[in-house]
Amino acid sequence: MIQLERLSVTYPGGVQALQSVSLNFNPGQFTVILGASGSGKSTLLRCLNGLIQPTAGLITVEGERKLNEPKVLHQYRQRTGMIFQHHQLIARQTALQNVLTGRLAYHSTLRSFFPLPKADKYIALECLDRVGLLSKALVRVDNLSGGQQQRVGIARALAQQPRLIIADEPVSSLDPASSHKIISFLRQICQEDGIAAIMSLHQVDLAKAYADRIVGISQGNVVFDGSAADIDEYQLNYIYDTLGKPKERQKMVKK
Ligand code: ADP
Ligand code: MG
Repeated sequence: MIQLERLSVTYPGGVQALQSVSLNFNPGQFTVILGASGSGKSTLLRCLNGLIQPTAGLITVEGERKLNEPKVLHQYRQRTGMIFQHHQLIARQTALQNVLTGRLAYHSTLRSFFPLPKADKYIALECLDRVGLLSKALVRVDNLSGGQQQRVGIARALAQQPRLIIADEPVSSLDPASSHKIISFLRQICQEDGIAAIMSLHQVDLAKAYADRIVGISQGNVVFDGSAADIDEYQLNYIYDTLGKPKERQKMVKK
């Protein structure tokens, strides 16, 4: 579905955030990216959403289509939902208004200045219903709890009718119990709708509990790529430690 070929990102100032990363993401797969702070997780996700251009390497979607071509990027973004760490909702607007913004990708800029069609409202309400917040549709989001706000964020991503959801530490501002609820819920929806998810998490237990696939990054290199069942203390040390030499670490990557 989306392929990264020898992707490297060097930021101005010389930080090499990603070093020749090659990964292939499949439709419907729930992938969790693990790695220490500063290892390159957000950089990888920003490349996957076309927010930053890699310094070297190639991203292709659906086979041979290059992500940096404007038409390809536009279509891809339409079907790619984003869920953010601090949900990035518009505080003074209602849950419904926030979820409706997920429909904007389907309209021209000019059209989006006017109220969206009823069909969009219906989709948005359906999405709120799925996350259990239909009764809060007309409540301003700053009156909702953190967990509820993140569910509105999920509903907004779902309103895009995505094929892929990208999330950067979506539950890092929630307590452990709410985090479990949100990720298990997201996983269930992705499974039901056949949506692929690629998300970074800093909670290893969540990754182990819900991921189909875990990708471990250390200092801009993929050092683990396997199933949740394959990961143990030893691999976690490679992912979170800098003790092993990069070459040794590369051996952990399953081809
Ligand atoms: P993570 O999300 O795993 O914490 P990041 O992708 O944010 O890692 O960062 C990877 C590396 O790139 C870090 O060393 C970070 O300081 C650096 N970095 C991230 N964003 C920028 C930026 N906009 N400009 C310069 N350096 C950056
Ligand atoms: Mg980050």
